[in-house]
Amino acid sequence: MSATSDIRTASQPAPASTRTPSHEHAWVTESRHRTSEGDVLYVRCGGCRAQRIDLQRRSDAPPTALTRSISAVGNNP
Ligand SMILES: [Zn+2]
Repeated sequence: MSATSDIRTASQPAPASTRTPSHEHAWVTESRHRTSEGDVLYVRCGGCRAQRIDLQRRSDAPPTALTRSISAVGNNP
């Protein structure tokens, strides 16, 4: 009665982001729009085609992500 295989059933803690890509995104700026808040950058990953929107408040400051990366994989409900 002990022929069950050793399947790991221990529940692993889920990461903060459910869909963590297996690679580091290579964001490429597709378009840039100047607004009163700063420059809005529309970026896309050249690897997985995920999209993100960044806001660069100053030209000498790094942009901050307005949105999380949006996966291009079709997993709509
Ligand atoms: Zn990517």
